[in-house]
Amino acid sequence: MSKTATLNRATGITTVFIISAPSGSGKSTLVCELMKRIPDLYFSVSYTTRPPRGQETDGNEYHFISRAEFERRLANDEFLESAEVFGNYYGTHRSELDRARAARADLVLDIDVQGARQLKGRISEAVSIFILPPSRQVLEERLRARSQDSETVIERRLKEAAEEIRNYSQYDYLLVNREVQASTDTLVSIVRSVRSRRDRMEQQIRPILETFEDGRNKS
Ligand code: 5GP
Repeated sequence: MSKTATLNRATGITTVFIISAPSGSGKSTLVCELMKRIPDLYFSVSYTTRPPRGQETDGNEYHFISRAEFERRLANDEFLESAEVFGNYYGTHRSELDRARAARADLVLDIDVQGARQLKGRISEAVSIFILPPSRQVLEERLRARSQDSETVIERRLKEAAEEIRNYSQYDYLLVNREVQASTDTLVSIVRSVRSRRDRMEQQIRPILETFEDGRNKS
């Protein structure tokens, strides 16, 4: 059996939600709101070689590791997907999917367009969502408002955003983030509608179907 088929089967009732967006489009806030609103969602904590920023702590936002350790794990085939983004390595460890499955939860991945492509190739029924800012101008304003970055970094991020946005057509769902509340509602609806799909509901409705079977036997 191919590796892809094994992974597809292995996901069972766990749906993998891939969320990508250019830096500054409000993705982290939306993912955070989504996790608050929907139960049984498990956020995948990636491995990265970039140093922690601000309040970030190991094992919380990321597992922070050295390049040598990342390369060792990569050679060991420990990652479901991995990519080099802004000069640093990022990767999703296979155990994240196992943990979500064991908890009978869905898995949410915040990964870049390269990682999204790799994962879709491996888990074809993964659901991918791309978040766009309403315009380049709004993205620029948001990046400046964060005032975390220098002018050069802002220019670089805008160029990178243009690159990433070019890949929108590889995603299943597109979300224009104009306003947090409305965008969160849309994200929540996407997750809920996937959870209502027949293949996901089949096990759940079995006991209901059985009550009708019983009724037929009685009549
Ligand atoms: P940041 O360093 O700003 O947290 O993330 C930079 C980029 O790396 C973001 O686009 C984020 O989605 C992406 N990223 C984070 N974790 C992973 C991962 O495990 N795999 C891939 N392919 N991209 C990731």
